[in-house]
Amino acid sequence: MYTCFNCGAAWDSSLRQPAVKETCEGCGAYLHCCRNCTYHRQGYPNACYIPDTEKIADRRRANFCDEFEFISVTTREKRAGAPRKGDATLAALLGEGSDTPESTSGVKEWLGTSDKVPEEFDDLFED
Ligand SMILES: [Zn+2]
Repeated sequence: MYTCFNCGAAWDSSLRQPAVKETCEGCGAYLHCCRNCTYHRQGYPNACYIPDTEKIADRRRANFCDEFEFISVTTREKRAGAPRKGDATLAALLGEGSDTPESTSGVKEWLGTSDKVPEEFDDLFED
């Protein structure tokens, strides 16, 4: 099964690949983009596991990459690894949401106990 990187909606198709301009039924995000690709990796050149792929400016927008392969939901979950708590913490770090003492302690707790930065975190700083 394949899901949208943005809203998590299942991509209901008998095909293995979305069309380049295909969008998510749930949120309208492009499906044929790095964020939905199994080869998208932080820390690699062009944030891609495949060498010498076309330079992509926006990992959320549709690309024409020949190497695109929709990441399966199981692989996505495995990669995500970190608990969902990380997402809330990230919002706190960026000053989104509340500035209550509660969220601040959440940041400290997370930074203190996790040695792995979620992939989502890296994405914010690329390019
Ligand atoms: Zn979506």
